[in-house]
Amino acid sequence: MIRSVEIKASVTQAATEAGFDLVGVAPVADAPELEYFPRWIAKGHAGEMKFMEALDERGRLKRASLAHAAPWARSVVVCAINYNTSQPYSTQESDRGRGWISRYAWGRQDYHDSVMLRLRQVEMSLQDACGTGDLVTRCYVDTGPIVERVVAKYAGIGWIGKNTCIINQQRGSWLFLGVILTSLELEAGLPTPDRCGTCTRCIDACPTEALIAPYQLDSNKCISYLTIEKRGALPQNDDLRSAMGRHIFGCDICQDVCPWNRKAPATDAADFQPREELINPALDWLAEISAEEFRRAFRGSPVRRTKRAGLRRNAVIAMGNSGDRKFLPMLGKLVTDEDEFVRKSAVWAIQKLNSTD
Ligand code: SF4
Repeated sequence: MIRSVEIKASVTQAATEAGFDLVGVAPVADAPELEYFPRWIAKGHAGEMKFMEALDERGRLKRASLAHAAPWARSVVVCAINYNTSQPYSTQESDRGRGWISRYAWGRQDYHDSVMLRLRQVEMSLQDACGTGDLVTRCYVDTGPIVERVVAKYAGIGWIGKNTCIINQQRGSWLFLGVILTSLELEAGLPTPDRCGTCTRCIDACPTEALIAPYQLDSNKCISYLTIEKRGALPQNDDLRSAMGRHIFGCDICQDVCPWNRKAPATDAADFQPREELINPALDWLAEISAEEFRRAFRGSPVRRTKRAGLRRNAVIAMGNSGDRKFLPMLGKLVTDEDEFVRKSAVWAIQKLNSTD
């Protein structure tokens, strides 16, 4: 165990040097928080995110247990880094002709890449400290068959809030997580106690009622899912579309209202500093963005995930929700757009604007 303590100290130091704000070790054990996962999938709450349903060779859901996904793993190093910037909170207060991109996507680089670069440094220090050729490690930033927030809780990074985000008492919830599965048995931290208490702000604030109960998210109603993961047509549900407001990529509402984020520190990491053009971008720019301009504007940005077609569709829906009739002429053109979902969204947006006082 002395060796394990030394290795953990060296990993902690490497994580700090790499720029992580928090680091901890979780045991490989089935946490009660994962018991919900098969039921969550069975109820269809993952929407069309088929990667959530990945199975191991015995037909078991990988994400339901680390024993399914990585039977060789003995512990998980969890690193967290703050991406909060000093930009103001503002989902809905901006000029109504502008949309909202979730703050995690404002940076100059895709966070998957910048967090992974840092994580590789920690992985190298683990391998150096271990000095054995038998060590197996795997690094993941959002891409692994693992529910990161659950291991983050058991590594002592924070608790899982009723909004389903990991929350740290000092740093709030604007955190990117990176995990290293390792075949090494390291001394684990203690799980963080839940500090949500009687608060229900996130549940009350969610405009689409996607938080169907404390700690339970129905992705099908979640603005982040709808604007990023949902391909093709958005659900034919007027209330849902209207409640999406002017969100064009992701949503920060359930974190913006969280009292634990009031004093969240701002990061000075250069790669997380916002690109001005991604804060409240003009909806008419995005609705008609060319393929070349999309590539240029979103090079290295997570916004590419929704693809140009998805971003244009979202911008058109947001125009409908803007209450700004100046968009009617452009929408009139877009009803004959080459993209089917832009066309259909434009029809909806015109009806919505015409029915708005
Ligand atoms: Fe928990 Fe309140 Fe934050 Fe929701 S808003 S995550 S209930 S503290």
